[in-house]
Amino acid sequence: MTPEPTKLPELLLSHHTEPTELDENMECGVCNTEVKKNSFLEHLECCAAGTKIPHLMMNVFFLEEEVIARDDILEKNFLHLVNDEPLELRNQNCLYCSNADMHADGLCRNVKRTHFLGGMFQNSANEYFDMIKLIHALKNQATVLLLKMQQKRKMDRIILLLQVVFRIENGGNLMECLPADAFKVLKKIEKKDTEAVSKMRLELRKNAEEELNFSELARNLCLEEMVKELLTMDIKNPRISPFEFVNTA
Ligand SMILES: [Zn+2]
Ligand SMILES: [Zn+2]
Ligand SMILES: [Zn+2]
Repeated sequence: MTPEPTKLPELLLSHHTEPTELDENMECGVCNTEVKKNSFLEHLECCAAGTKIPHLMMNVFFLEEEVIARDDILEKNFLHLVNDEPLELRNQNCLYCSNADMHADGLCRNVKRTHFLGGMFQNSANEYFDMIKLIHALKNQATVLLLKMQQKRKMDRIILLLQVVFRIENGGNLMECLPADAFKVLKKIEKKDTEAVSKMRLELRKNAEEELNFSELARNLCLEEMVKELLTMDIKNPRISPFEFVNTA
């Protein structure tokens, strides 16, 4: 009898901040309009032209796909362990073994199911969390750039307005031509904007830390639950034949 697959894959995937489908709409943070995710990068190329935002977001999307792929292979191999099916290698890499020689020695073929699972989680942890950290760093960088861009657009509008109101020629030195009061207001806005950027940086950093902690917690919980499920099998129904492997990508 095949045991019911656990709810673990869901849990494992639950730390994904936004598991958006490609044809789903998402809000563009630059212009606040709804854009389909699969055309979002193209949209950004014009909407945030001249900034690093499109490039940053392209890398974020790429890394998010990669994180999903890493979750996916762990989840699949867990189910293969449950069902006593051949285990999947990616690019000939065994997730339990730390290198090709070790895999060639075949020691991984005779370990307990729980050991194999634990080894896969452990060996992939560093790279996995590095990717998650990088995603947060890139996203935060894009978010700060976005705020700066909005501030610059606002400032451009204000300056245009001041030029009109005080009849300042284009090319004339705005700061020198402005009455002291208006100059003060302008400086105040600039100061507020700078403060807003610092405040946002701090908040984003804090959020990223919290999200990373949550990812670690979710992944550990996953492993614990998966181990519980395989432990009974290891005891009641130990493997007699060694593991088999198939290369899937
Ligand atoms: Zn994930
Ligand atoms: Zn936009
Ligand atoms: Zn191996």
